[in-house]
Amino acid sequence: MARVFNFSAGPAVLPLPVLERTQAELIEYGGSGMSVMEMSHRGKVFTGIRDRAEAALRQLMQIPDSYAVLFLQGGATTQFAMVPMNLTRRGKADYVNTGVWSKKAIAEAKKYTQVRVVATSEDKAFGYIPALTKADFDPEADYVHITTNNTIYGTLFPEIPDTGDVPLVADMSSNILSQAYRVEDFGLIYAGAQKNIGPAGLTIVIVRRDLMGTILPPTPVMFDYKIHADNDSLYNTPPTFAIYMAGLVFEWMLAEGGVAEMERRNREKAGLLYDFLDRSEVFASTIADPYRSLMNVPFRLPSEDLDKQFIAEAEAAGLKSLKGHRSVGSMRASIYNAMPLEGVQALIDFMAAFETKIKAAAQV
Ligand SMILES: *Cc1c(COP(=O)(O)O)cnc(C)c1O
Repeated sequence: MARVFNFSAGPAVLPLPVLERTQAELIEYGGSGMSVMEMSHRGKVFTGIRDRAEAALRQLMQIPDSYAVLFLQGGATTQFAMVPMNLTRRGKADYVNTGVWSKKAIAEAKKYTQVRVVATSEDKAFGYIPALTKADFDPEADYVHITTNNTIYGTLFPEIPDTGDVPLVADMSSNILSQAYRVEDFGLIYAGAQKNIGPAGLTIVIVRRDLMGTILPPTPVMFDYKIHADNDSLYNTPPTFAIYMAGLVFEWMLAEGGVAEMERRNREKAGLLYDFLDRSEVFASTIADPYRSLMNVPFRLPSEDLDKQFIAEAEAAGLKSLKGHRSVGSMRASIYNAMPLEGVQALIDFMAAFETKIKAAAQV
């Protein structure tokens, strides 16, 4: 069985060289006589793997020492609660509602703090990002929360809002490492690994150290950022194999040219796809500039029947998981860092052939 082009929103495609290296090292890792899955998380071999993964991520994102890097579990969904549990001081927080994931973050935060929804794009089915200025934010808020890339709708914050002295918290689950961000613009960044980093089961948190250490009682020890930071994410048994694979992805990215090169490739891939959609007479992009995601590209045909036909024929041609999220319908191509340019080209070629075919059928 050959590998397909996998456009899944997550868990998503991984770089083939990383999978091949994982396979080569699966049974016996680096002279240790055992698999990474079988070794102590406190032994020298694994702590070396963890340290290298952190160092590579720090290099990729230019993370200053004043930020801790945590390798946690529980997904982005656990961060929806951990953020208010750890960052609440005065008891109020500003949230921007740009979709289902923002809404879930808001619902969870309401259990711990007073949430103010500063802006929402729900009036237009989350098809854009609200414009925001510093004056929109409460200077007394403990933090401002945004979702930089909205995986389901395919929207991206065109720029990071200025929140002044209020720490900005970003759910970057679906676009971390896809384009250059200045870590110093954020108080905290979190991301589930399964979209742009590695296997599911690992969550990355990058948090300014001065924001840790005050926690709402009675918060479980596992939800305390400071505990994890003080223990190098080894307070309890971490997701060792997922950390190992994330480290390989980080090293692959560095070898390929880092975040700048990923961004260049992502702009090229997304640009080709949006250009095709804008020229097509049957396919249409659902999002306008400047809100278009580089990672998740939703599109549609003139009818649901054609959507269904397209998805089925694409599947049969080895272009997998193009069905849109159930709340939006139609199609969505997720083209994360590990999706090669050839995958996007194959998709565009297939769409062009499909367009020719249905236009011919319409003329009969
Ligand atoms: C996928 C996703 C989530 C949910 O992540 P889990 O790891 O499944 O909890 C949250 N936010 C965004 C933006 C996502 O894309």
